Amino acid sequence: TRTKLIAGNWKMNGLAASTAELDKIIAGAKELPSRVELLICPPFTLIDRFADRAERSRVAVGAQDAHPKASGAHTGCVSAAMLKDAGATHVIVGHSERRTDQKETDAEVNAKAAAVIGEGLIAIVCVGETEAERDAGRALDVVGTQLAGSLPAGSTAANLVVAYEPVWAIGTGRTPSTADVAEMHAHIRTRLRDQLGAEGEGVRILYGGSVKASNAAELLAVADVDGALVGGASLTAEQFLPIAQAV
Ligand code: 13P
Repeated sequence: TRTKLIAGNWKMNGLAASTAELDKIIAGAKELPSRVELLICPPFTLIDRFADRAERSRVAVGAQDAHPKASGAHTGCVSAAMLKDAGATHVIVGHSERRTDQKETDAEVNAKAAAVIGEGLIAIVCVGETEAERDAGRALDVVGTQLAGSLPAGSTAANLVVAYEPVWAIGTGRTPSTADVAEMHAHIRTRLRDQLGAEGEGVRILYGGSVKASNAAELLAVADVDGALVGGASLTAEQFLPIAQAV
């Protein structure tokens, strides 16, 4: 059985003062059942201090991107080796905002995930269709293509997490029906088994897109939903902890 992972993606939010919110999340996490893991991915600037703060707690700290190379002449970039050094254990790669804003391709996401895995960290590879693609009946195909291109060689149940985030559900308050979530997660599971063999069975598949306390229980009860990747509602303990409690 796969341990549920409730991950917070803080995106470009958080300052030093946000440590107070992390402290509340760490305190609340003590009450959670052992079947749930918590992860917070703050911006790069907070990883080091968050990791120090969360040491020996139930909360892991991750990053939102990593460069494929370990070091070198890449101004403004941060490598997986640096993230590991700062205390991160997980790295989100291929988020739809980066696929759109930074024009990241499946091949680039693959290289980033390979670098993350190569450092002994866990890669959270994001996939998901746009609204136009869903309306055209292409959602399953689009996600299948993203998986085929984005999952690096050497992916295992221990070093890979997949996050399904329909682009049209991110930050909109809209979510797919539980039937659509079930269909997509079953599709992803089949693709993972095809690509990774027996390891594909153990890879966790998170749902992301407008997850909040009021819809978490319903979404987390869907077959093959092994957790959630939460944006807006991960920024405060008050909103984030009830999602973890819904597991
Ligand atoms: P929201 O939870 O704000 O919709 O964001 C989802 C997301 O993109 C998490 O990576």
